[in-house]
Amino acid sequence: MDKNDLKKIIRDIPDFPKKGIIFKDITTLLKDKDALRVAIDALAEKYKGQEIDAVIGIEARGFIFGTALAYKLGTGFIPVRKKGKLPYKTKKVTYDLEYGTDTLEIHEDALSKDSKVLIVDDLLATGGTVSAVAKLVKGQGASIVGVAFLVELGFLNGREKLGKLPVHSIITY
Ligand code: AMP
Repeated sequence: MDKNDLKKIIRDIPDFPKKGIIFKDITTLLKDKDALRVAIDALAEKYKGQEIDAVIGIEARGFIFGTALAYKLGTGFIPVRKKGKLPYKTKKVTYDLEYGTDTLEIHEDALSKDSKVLIVDDLLATGGTVSAVAKLVKGQGASIVGVAFLVELGFLNGREKLGKLPVHSIITY
């Protein structure tokens, strides 16, 4: 198996969580031992040898790929979580969703000015989530080495929203 085979292992769920959305279900990839290894190895390949202190994973599916990637790259792992979940003092960012807003948090001492980080999530759609996380990271003075996704929904032009951030994805639809 190679990374070109991953596309057919991800399952499409039409009209989830609401009508008109085709949800990319990665659980079919996660349960397949070869697909999981190929996916993590493909992500790691891009960043190996680069100077990275920590991988930042976005709750919840970003934790799955982010932690495996951190292990593989020999870096630390930092969680960005939904509001109210982190136990220590946090920095927050609120961003717009289609209807309403959402808030993400990071521990206020998770990063320092000389931290170099890689931000990871399972999927890039409109780019709203990751640009909010990038704001949180830059707000603490840290630098972003890259933004990595397993899946990119290219037709939603999320990359444009991310401006100059170096975006990398393994599979594009
Ligand atoms: P966005 O902020 O629009 O880039 O959305 C990204 C977040 O929403 C990621 O954490 C994804 O896991 C999730 N997401 C958005 N659209 C989909 C989709 N079609 N299938 C699966 N997850 C999605």
